[in-house]
Amino acid sequence: MLEHLKANNRAWADGKLAADPGFFQRLVGQQSPEYLWIGCADSRVPANEIVGLDPGELFVHRNVANLAPPQDANYLSVLQFAVDVLKVKHILVVGHYGCGGVVAAVDGQRRGLVDHWLHPIREVYAAHRGELEALGDNHAKHDRLCELNVIRQVRNVASDVFVRDAWLRGQPLSVHGWVYSLSDGLVKDMDVTCNGPDDLDRLY
Ligand code: ZN
Repeated sequence: MLEHLKANNRAWADGKLAADPGFFQRLVGQQSPEYLWIGCADSRVPANEIVGLDPGELFVHRNVANLAPPQDANYLSVLQFAVDVLKVKHILVVGHYGCGGVVAAVDGQRRGLVDHWLHPIREVYAAHRGELEALGDNHAKHDRLCELNVIRQVRNVASDVFVRDAWLRGQPLSVHGWVYSLSDGLVKDMDVTCNGPDDLDRLY
């Protein structure tokens, strides 16, 4: 079963060792990534690959539509570990254009549990209904909603107590919002970076 994946794995491990014989031994010792990636589970958005980082360099949390819901124990556990233990310096909230989760949130169809998960996106839509509906074209509307969702999730992360406490301690930590384009492989910086509580006020 899945022999091709096991063969790929062996080839990958061999390649890493050939380039750097100490590669795996170093990683066993410890992980000290400087970045936490909060991204979509979409298979077309491979976190490490997009930003050219090796194992050990990026702490990753992915879910449908890159949400940071303040009641989600999974996300919060990742956030606290990244901030308090790993002491990452940057948190990247990375959405992507053409996100199926974002479209599903507002297309009016019923899918079950995921409709509850996607509820925060419907709230983002409602908060920006005027701007979004003025765009007319569905494609443009969805793309803008992907951006607005990222900005909203940056706000969630930057207003979280784990992040605010880190800033109070004087720990260097920035929260960024990016949107990745499936069509050209490039990220767009939404320019909503928060380096401290003052920057957060700008997002409200
Ligand atoms: Zn997505």
